[in-house]
Amino acid sequence: MITIKSAAQVEKMRAAGALLHQVLEALRQAIQPGVTTLELDRMAEKMIRDAGAIPSFKGFEGFPFSICASVDDQVVHGFATKDHLREGQLLSVDCGVILNGWQSDSAFSALVGSGSAEAEKLIRDTEKCFWLGANQARPGNRLGDISHAVQSYAEAQGYGVIRDLCGHGIGTEMHEDPSIPNFGKPGRGVRLQAGMTLAIEPMIARGDWHVYLYDNDWTVATRDGSLCAHYEHTVLVTDGEPEVLSFPGANVKEMAR
Ligand code: MG
Ligand code: MG
Repeated sequence: MITIKSAAQVEKMRAAGALLHQVLEALRQAIQPGVTTLELDRMAEKMIRDAGAIPSFKGFEGFPFSICASVDDQVVHGFATKDHLREGQLLSVDCGVILNGWQSDSAFSALVGSGSAEAEKLIRDTEKCFWLGANQARPGNRLGDISHAVQSYAEAQGYGVIRDLCGHGIGTEMHEDPSIPNFGKPGRGVRLQAGMTLAIEPMIARGDWHVYLYDNDWTVATRDGSLCAHYEHTVLVTDGEPEVLSFPGANVKEMAR
């Protein structure tokens, strides 16, 4: 069942999104060679709890951390570790918060120090996929319009679109209906309505889209070992422009240009 959020509920999701944005921006600033992802995890958990919120990932179906920290060919659900990040690695950080019962979910990829032009382009293009998808989150459009916008841009750059994992509705639960694949046909699927809140999250690989699961039963990585990037925000469908709840003030139409 897809839930339509009231103005009062949206206000709470806006607050959760604003907090998550602050947390992820702080993590982004902290990423540098020598830092460990366990340090980033502790930093995120402290910021979230200090704000009176709950890190939604920690304990979710047994997941042990407040962030997912996925390096290089890891797609999502990487474990935080004591390993020191190295110059040129591609790190994807995913995080979620619950504030006053309402959820927000967001992720980004960044280079540790500076890296290859290819890795930089992959990160930029994955973000572009998100903005193109989010720009389709308008009343009267269908879910497939979001999926298709992501897929067609990614594949035009020669990338693989990860198919085993999807975006999702979000509200009082982290994962609500509908499921939002990053591939699909325009004009198909659920018709979008104002008040829907959607976590749109392209996962894009430099190589093929096939993935495998680590022995830890969580971490997903590309089968061919190619680099993968991830970019996610919690987006509100409105009667006007789409609103990115986890990136206050972002202009979707401008970013999708
Ligand atoms: Mg996420
Ligand atoms: Mg998500």
